[in-house]
Amino acid sequence: MFDALSGKLGDVFDRLRRRGALSESDVIEAMRDIRLALLEADVALPVVRDFIAKVRLQAVGAEVLRAVSPGQQVVKIVNDALVDALGGEGAVPLNLNAASPIPFLMVGLQGSGKTTTSGKIALLLKEKQRKKVLLASLDTQRPAAQLQLAQLAERAGVASLPIVPGETPVQIARRAMETGRREVFDVVILDTAGRLAIDQALMDEVKAIRDVTAPAETLLVVDAMTGQDALATATAFNEAVSITGIVMTRLDGDARGGAALSMRAVTGAPIKLMGMGEKLDALEPFHPERIAGRILGMGDIVSLVEKAAENVDQQKAEQLAKKMARGKFDLEDYAEQLKQITKMGSLSGIMGMLPGVGKIKQQLAEADLDTSILKRQAAIISSMTKAERANPDIMKASRKKRVAAGSGTSVQEVNRLLKQFEQMKDMMKRAQKLGQKGLARGGLA
Ligand code: GDP
Repeated sequence: MFDALSGKLGDVFDRLRRRGALSESDVIEAMRDIRLALLEADVALPVVRDFIAKVRLQAVGAEVLRAVSPGQQVVKIVNDALVDALGGEGAVPLNLNAASPIPFLMVGLQGSGKTTTSGKIALLLKEKQRKKVLLASLDTQRPAAQLQLAQLAERAGVASLPIVPGETPVQIARRAMETGRREVFDVVILDTAGRLAIDQALMDEVKAIRDVTAPAETLLVVDAMTGQDALATATAFNEAVSITGIVMTRLDGDARGGAALSMRAVTGAPIKLMGMGEKLDALEPFHPERIAGRILGMGDIVSLVEKAAENVDQQKAEQLAKKMARGKFDLEDYAEQLKQITKMGSLSGIMGMLPGVGKIKQQLAEADLDTSILKRQAAIISSMTKAERANPDIMKASRKKRVAAGSGTSVQEVNRLLKQFEQMKDMMKRAQKLGQKGLARGGLA
């Protein structure tokens, strides 16, 4: 996410930091580079102008120039301006303060990820807020749209409005709200039709639906990859139905990020959620300060820890720690660890959340070190017999050949895994000894 922008800003800051003392012209030159980086990331021109004016005003102040580490100060000022542009501190939650059934209206262009996002929000509300959600597709344009939403609902384990052929979108909306009341749903998510481009008919339809449902949230779904075009879309929808929040999709890709940075300024509505993949659980709250941290390569430790807490099985982790402490760690445990890491998502995604690794990440991507290696390692382990996993020393040439064939890998890969495992075991033993010494010393003191 934001890789190019992040890399360019990183270069600017590296240069500033190397300088030590800064002159006004150093700062002005840096501002020029930042301006270019933002424009190349597809941030809207008025937003860039505003941003640079704000940063320059603070950065050329005497205080910064005289500070101990002026470069660092400039980074801080840019960080604050980024947080501001992205909407200020803290994620803005979905509005659930309305009488049930609470209507959510989903709007956006076709292909923006609107239908997928409707399913994702339904799952989020069900899992995190224990809400009873009804999904309804008002898309009578695309023949398969209503069916697609019904399938998503099934995958998310929520209800969807039965399809009645021949109804108009407004009729479907009315029926959805009636069903919501009658069957006591907490939230009704109304997925409207999208078009390939904004047109009057689409806007009139969305307005009519809004008028009969009075939504608590009108969420605009925007594909982060669309750059400048997203702004015209956002403006048009905002003028027609005043959106209350934005969902940025495809932030898992290499979106240049401009749309995310411009949205708030153009619509005044906060980005509430971000789509991070095709899977139904790939939807996350949008925390401006964490995103700014990622753009500046300062990492996003908070998200990483939260992700780990959600995905790592606490009980299993403790069992594993005990086994390690007893020096009993076998390939079975190693496979379990691989599984936990894979669950957290791609390695480069995880790396991106760590501070200072923006550039390493690039190298990792080039070295193609991603979860596919972990998956291959897991395949190798599952092709071994129980005895082999417990005691990898018995892995001689013929066994290695069998395992390589069984897992669709090569003998070299099997060797690499065994070596890695040995090294890990070795490291644990040493850590263990150190720990005991430390404990003994602590006990004596
Ligand atoms: P709609 O026409 O706006 O309803 O768009 P869809 O919901 O049908 O989505 C279009 C495509 O985008 C589908 O293949 C989705 O799986 C994909 N998609 C949606 N959201 C995301 C996201 O956050 N990341 C990625 N990588 N793909 C997404």
